[in-house]
Amino acid sequence: MSGVDRGRRQFVGWGVAGLAGVAIAPGILLFDLAHGRAPDAPASGKVRWGMLIDATRCAPDCNACVVACAKENGLPATASPTSPQWIRKVELKDLRSGRTAAAPVMCQHCAQPPCVDVCPTGASFKRADGIVLVDRHTCIGCRYCMMACPYKARSFVHEPVTDQNPDVPRGRGCVESCTLCVHRIDRGGTPACVEACAAAGHRAILFGDLNDPGSEIARRVAELGTRALRADLRLDPGVRYQGL
Ligand code: SF4
Ligand code: SF4
Repeated sequence: MSGVDRGRRQFVGWGVAGLAGVAIAPGILLFDLAHGRAPDAPASGKVRWGMLIDATRCAPDCNACVVACAKENGLPATASPTSPQWIRKVELKDLRSGRTAAAPVMCQHCAQPPCVDVCPTGASFKRADGIVLVDRHTCIGCRYCMMACPYKARSFVHEPVTDQNPDVPRGRGCVESCTLCVHRIDRGGTPACVEACAAAGHRAILFGDLNDPGSEIARRVAELGTRALRADLRLDPGVRYQGL
């Protein structure tokens, strides 16, 4: 699967899943087993999920990741000033050289997330595997987290929610942001934006385990000198960029 960093450990997992897959009912993904995470098991702190975005591969006029995110998560297909948007395309320009680059920006899944620090209810939280989420049942919509996030990654849900994806519960009056498609990851899948970018022929987004030194994403982060947005804030984002 293009744009997906499975890493060495999962090649071992493929063997196990391949054997077990014969007896698996339709609809249950093989990677449920390959990830080594049983349903309802807690997230593992050995893993840190992340993404590496290659701005040299990101086409300025392509919006495939934004469209896929909205479809996957039951967001309005057409963004309005008040509608939630979990991922957006930005264009950056170097004022000295004039060089421009495009890249998607979403929740950066910070290791030191200020949204979690300021949340008065504990609704904002970080999983052991680095994914930062909002518990819709606990969120009171105070929007402190929106003010604290330096990436403008969070949205308040103003309108009644319709056509929800059962895997992505949403609610009016709550704050929400990119979940890294946690419902897919927990089944061994990859974020919808990653798949859409690959399907559009760009393969600008690589997903994988930053903690696995054998994974492609970890190797590229180590070798390429990738950048974190607003690295000066030292939030240690799980989303990294190259080519900016
Ligand atoms: Fe929180 Fe914003 Fe960091 Fe996401 S990008 S973890 S919402 S501070
Ligand atoms: Fe926490 Fe919700 Fe307030 Fe954000 S809006 S700080 S998630 S209670």
